[in-house]
Amino acid sequence: RTVYVNGEYLPETEAKVSIFDRGFLMADAVYEVTSVLGGKLIDFEGHAVRLKRSLDELEMAEPCTKEELLEIHRKLVELNGIDEGLVYLQVSRGSDGDRDFVFPSEDTKPTLVLFTQNKPGLADSPAAKKGAKIISIEDIRWGRRDIKTVQLLYPSMGKMMAKKAGADDAWMIEDGHVTEGTSNNAYFVKDGVIVTRPLSNDILHGITRKAVLRLAEEAQLKVEERLFTIEEAKAADEAFTTSASAFVMPVVEIDGVALGDGTPGPIAKRLREIYLEESMKEAI
Ligand code: PLP
Repeated sequence: RTVYVNGEYLPETEAKVSIFDRGFLMADAVYEVTSVLGGKLIDFEGHAVRLKRSLDELEMAEPCTKEELLEIHRKLVELNGIDEGLVYLQVSRGSDGDRDFVFPSEDTKPTLVLFTQNKPGLADSPAAKKGAKIISIEDIRWGRRDIKTVQLLYPSMGKMMAKKAGADDAWMIEDGHVTEGTSNNAYFVKDGVIVTRPLSNDILHGITRKAVLRLAEEAQLKVEERLFTIEEAKAADEAFTTSASAFVMPVVEIDGVALGDGTPGPIAKRLREIYLEESMKEAI
């Protein structure tokens, strides 16, 4: 694989970042994952806007312009021959060559790293045809989940808890209400109404969430943004998650309870189709 590090395109074995980098020592870094379908980027604009917001919230400098970012994405897709897959981007605060809780001086250069992941069959995924089994776990993450930081240890542990329980993923619960999945936004459908948690600092403002809610409304589907419990989701007709890397993923089981007939629901399937079709039309 050819990867990008601070202005250079290199074989992955030659790419280097300082051991003092604050991304490495303190998870002082933000990231984005953009999917590639047909060799084109899905919703690059949405990811670029959210990246800028994450950087602003953490008073981190922009590593380069949006146009330069787009060019790096495109060049990596081309160099690595990606037809279906992902582009991972990470910006960290860099380092001034030591470990210190205090941020380094303003002129410290941020570290910009990008790499691709080849995922043939991403759109026509067998996992989406089967649907995901979910367990619920407590949400013990920090209070600024709207900032897309690389603090992914708890979500990673949540995925492992799911795996050990024979499930695919976990939804997290705080104060009795579902926040989101370990790496996706969470929804259920009851009597034709799609329910999902409203945006706040408690969840990531999913780029796919925004697109899917717009497409749902265009398709005359009812959407309610409100808090919901795991019991409501378990009693639902169907459920699903959204993310840039899995698009719309039907959920067929929550905490061992099958939803509907235990297969992907019609609204989740339809939204997946609409989302893939529309986002590919606008891919760049
Ligand atoms: N929520 C969390 C915690 C995530 O990590 C992600 C994606 O990584 C999402 C939601 C979905 O966001 P997006 O649709 O922008 O990928």
